[in-house]
Amino acid sequence: MLWIDALTENFKNHKGEIWVDDMATPSGVPHVGTFRGAIIHDVAAKALEKEGHRVKYTFFSNDFDPMDGMPGYLDDKIYSVYMGKPFFTIPAPEGKGNLGDYFISGLYKMMTGLGCSFIQIKDSEEYKKGTYDKIIKRALDSSEQIRKIYKEVAGSEKPSDWIPFQPICEKCGKIGTTRAYNWDGEEVSYVCEESMVDWAKGCGHNGKVSPFGGTGKLPWKVEWPAKFAALGINVEGEGKDHSSAGGSRDLANKLCEKIFKVNPPYDLPYEHIIFKGKKMSKSKGVGISAEEVYNSLPPELIRFIMIRNINRVIDLDLDGMAIASIYDEYDRAHKAYLGEIDFPDLAKIYELSQISDNFNNGYRMKFTKVAHAIQIPNVDINKMAEEEKGSKLTEVELEDLKKRIKYANIWLEKFAPESFKFSVKKTLPEIELSETQKKIIAELKNIFSSKKEWSGENLQQEIFNIKDKLSVQPKEIFSTIYLIFIGKDSGPQAGFLLASLDYDFVLNRLDLK
Ligand SMILES: [Zn+2]
Repeated sequence: MLWIDALTENFKNHKGEIWVDDMATPSGVPHVGTFRGAIIHDVAAKALEKEGHRVKYTFFSNDFDPMDGMPGYLDDKIYSVYMGKPFFTIPAPEGKGNLGDYFISGLYKMMTGLGCSFIQIKDSEEYKKGTYDKIIKRALDSSEQIRKIYKEVAGSEKPSDWIPFQPICEKCGKIGTTRAYNWDGEEVSYVCEESMVDWAKGCGHNGKVSPFGGTGKLPWKVEWPAKFAALGINVEGEGKDHSSAGGSRDLANKLCEKIFKVNPPYDLPYEHIIFKGKKMSKSKGVGISAEEVYNSLPPELIRFIMIRNINRVIDLDLDGMAIASIYDEYDRAHKAYLGEIDFPDLAKIYELSQISDNFNNGYRMKFTKVAHAIQIPNVDINKMAEEEKGSKLTEVELEDLKKRIKYANIWLEKFAPESFKFSVKKTLPEIELSETQKKIIAELKNIFSSKKEWSGENLQQEIFNIKDKLSVQPKEIFSTIYLIFIGKDSGPQAGFLLASLDYDFVLNRLDLK
């Protein structure tokens, strides 16, 4: 069953609003894997809405988390002193607010561009507002039981004085270095340890603080289910690293059941994104940034690949013909949506990949054809599309074509294989032609010179007909044309190529001049 259908089926009899939630830690420029979660949750919310539910989709910025790594693009002379502090307390470069907002805003902007409709929430503000106060008390009162659950579910042994709270050190402002060890029912005692973590140094301060109203936070593994419980989240999934057995999700579910006494949200575990068969790693230089993906593909296609099968690893290699194949698959989904092929799941994925209700349901030019066409000098691609469609393009079809042209240009510039690129040779390339090839050219000249004006579509058909007259394979006819015009044995649709070029130039070339 398609994951979307399983989801909507689960909420079939649900009364009241459904709260869908996802989150990210604003620790740097967004990772492409973050897109997958953001889009899956958006699609989940929209699929539920389509079924008539009232739905809310929130996306949390976990800006209360400590900075525990130095992104290469930040000046470490300035930023090393902030290591261990919560993101919302660290200034952003050039005085642009705080680092948490600075990093999450890049993600939010791209999510909006990808058609996600969501409410932005900052975790730090929820803590300050006291949203979690009751649940923090519950967690602290249940410290011993939580330690047991950690051991039982995740096999992780916590010291006997461990309590689920991380205060911000009142002296140095760091949260990544504090160890809380006692809860007296009103206040938490902690020490800011010099060498608890290797990425930040504590100041040694011993303190005692009320855990409410934003003086600190729950450790993430407890915070996650605490948020489920405090807010009443109905749907929240996670990437594979959290959903494996004994991982954070198992722990969260158990804490929901045993400590917070709520049903955990409906789960949407999803697979990783890898790059050219390898796990992405910034330090090893393996991978592709979210921004590069965002700038290289239209939002519909990014949505399409992210949601098609959430249990499948995505190998995001954009080089070579990969993008062209994604387009072909997307066009197949379009056909399924139109009922031209019988594939209802694919039709549904197509529909949920769209970012507006007014999407193209009509004519569409194949991506590789667009990419070929834009390399032909002086080509009128709209006319070419009209000829292929057999009538004028609608507004929406024209917009869609414009978008394909934009992304085909990007593809040609950044990813397309060299063999796909061409330019019309100003002079006849130096080539040896066989007798058959010479015959083909002579016949083509006969045809071409019989008329002054050609449409690409008509000329293509006439060229194709040479096969019967000369008893040759169509492939040989076309490769001969490519050879004398672009010096390669493959290329764009020959009829369109010749029809778009200067008439005398073509005749001259057919005279082998
Ligand atoms: Zn400190």
